[in-house]
Amino acid sequence: MDYSGLKKQMVDEQIAGRGIKDRRVLAAFYKVPRHKFVPPDKIDSAYGDFPVPIGAGQTISQPYIVALMTELLDLKGSEKVLEIGAGSGYQAAILAGLAREVYTIERVPALAIKTGGIFKELGYNNIKLKTGDGTLGWPEEAPFDRVIITAASPVVPQPLGEQLKENGKLVLPLGESFSQILTLVEKESGELHYKDICGCVFVPLVGKYGLREE
Ligand code: SAH
Repeated sequence: MDYSGLKKQMVDEQIAGRGIKDRRVLAAFYKVPRHKFVPPDKIDSAYGDFPVPIGAGQTISQPYIVALMTELLDLKGSEKVLEIGAGSGYQAAILAGLAREVYTIERVPALAIKTGGIFKELGYNNIKLKTGDGTLGWPEEAPFDRVIITAASPVVPQPLGEQLKENGKLVLPLGESFSQILTLVEKESGELHYKDICGCVFVPLVGKYGLREE
């Protein structure tokens, strides 16, 4: 299988072709091997224009959505970023090429173990991964220049708003279980300001400051 050809096609058609312009973001998508982040039986779908199941009822987001969220974070290279919902690790790997350090939290232990192994195999040494409830944030490492939540929540979990630096940016799918608005949140003078970007569908953020476990 010619993964580099499929990868180039994904960037050209799904990402650049739909209006993602940040050259650093496009370069990051050319670099990261998405097929390493999907389960072996889904490898043929790795560069498709849709989310892919990664086990435990979770998904790796559609490439365009990963790119859009990444571009909204407006990374220059010096940032400390917190991601909630490591999942497959693909979004964190993209961020690792664009920021100084990435801290990522995954709630499902089996996914965290698998994803930690992939980071190690591919040599990502600026990603720190832990298992736990990401709605609590990572207080020992706060504050963060950027926060990205890759699971849906009806509100910005309070600890995550608090752990965001002044003038920092946070991106999340804001809304209920089956449909959300991708939202850019900016912190100014201690207050959060919200900007709607587009509709989206993510799995729920389950935790103390997110949705309750069934
Ligand atoms: N960023 C991921 C997308 C994963 S889907 C990727 O690139 O593949 C969302 C993930 O959020 C799932 O793996 C789910 O288990 C996780 N999740 C849900 N609630 C969470 C919480 N409170 N803390 C940490 N992870 C959570």
